[in-house]
Amino acid sequence: SEKKAGEDCGFYDEGSAERLKWEEEMNEMFEDSLSGHDFQVFLQPKVSPKSGETKGAEALVRWHHPQKGVIYPSDFIPLFERNGNICRLDVYVFEKVCALLEKWEDMGKKLIPISVNLSRQHFSQPEFLEELSVIAGRYGVRTDMLEFELTESIFLEENQIDIVKESIRQMHKLGFRCSLDDFGSGFSSLGLLKEFDVDALKLDRIFFQDMHSEKARDVIACLMELAKKLDVKTVAEGIEEQEQVEYLRMADCDMIQGYIYSRPVPADVFEERFLR
Ligand code: C2E
Ligand code: CA
Ligand code: CA
Ligand code: CA
Repeated sequence: SEKKAGEDCGFYDEGSAERLKWEEEMNEMFEDSLSGHDFQVFLQPKVSPKSGETKGAEALVRWHHPQKGVIYPSDFIPLFERNGNICRLDVYVFEKVCALLEKWEDMGKKLIPISVNLSRQHFSQPEFLEELSVIAGRYGVRTDMLEFELTESIFLEENQIDIVKESIRQMHKLGFRCSLDDFGSGFSSLGLLKEFDVDALKLDRIFFQDMHSEKARDVIACLMELAKKLDVKTVAEGIEEQEQVEYLRMADCDMIQGYIYSRPVPADVFEERFLR
C-alpha cells in the first residue's frame, strides 16, 4: 500500500551521519538498480469530476530495493537532482511510459495521455527533447499522448527563463504536451502564465485544504476562470474528500488527481481499473 507524500522524509534525519551514509549507499546502488529494473513506474489517474472518466495519468517512480523495500521519491529525487542521476532516471521513466502506451495500443485500449515529471536539470542539455522524441518514435507512440510536468521551481533561476520558454516551444513543435506542476506551492506568480505557453495548470493541494473558507473557494473559482480564459486545462492535485470534488465540479475544474479516486498504482492495476 502507498504511504502519503510527506509522511516519509526518508529513513534518516536530514544532515545526520546516517543520512549521509544512506545517500552514499543510494548513489552506489543507482546503476545496478537502473539496469536491474528496480525502478518501477506507478500511475495515478486524472479524473474528470463531471463525467468520472479517466482523462489522463501521471507516472510516479518507485524504487523497489531488494533489501530496503520501497523507497519513495522524496527520499532520492533531491539527491539525484544534485548529482545528475535524475536525468537518466527521468529518461528511464519516459521510456517505460512509451512502452506502456505501445502495449495499450496493441491491446486495443483507448489511449489516454500520460505525464512524466521532468527535472530542471534537463534544461541544461538542449538536445534532451530530441532524444525523447526519438525514443517515442522507436515505440511508435504519438507524442500528443505524452506530457511533461515542469515544476514551478524551474522558473526560479532568471537565466533559465529563456531556455525553458524555448524548450516549451520545441516540445510543442515535436507534438508533446506540457503542464505547469505544483502551481501555487511556492514561488509561482501569475506572470508565469502569460510568459509560458503550457497546456495544463496543476494546482497544488494547498489551494484545496480549507474549502470551508469562502475566501479559499473564491481563489479557486478565480483560478479556474483565469485558466479557462487562457485556454489552459486545470488539474486539482491532492484531492481526498468528496466535498472537494463537489466544489471542483461546480467550479468547472477539468481534472482531479488524488487519493479520492486512487493512489498511484502499478501499471497492471491501473490497466484493470481505469482503462477501457
Ligand atoms: P508531484 O509531481 O507533485 O506528484 C504528486 C505527489 O502527490 C505524489 O507523491 C503522489 O503520490 C502524491 N499524491 C497524489 N494524490 C494525493 C492525495 O490525495 N493526497 C496526498 N497527500 N498526496 C497525494 P510521490 O509519488 O511520493 O512523489 C513525490 C514527488 O517526487 C512528485 O511530486 C515529483 O515532484 C517527484 N517525482 C516522482 N516521480 C518522479 C520522476 O519520475 N521524476 C522526477 N523528476 N520527479 C519525480
Ligand atoms: Ca508532477
Ligand atoms: Ca506500435
Ligand atoms: Ca504536483
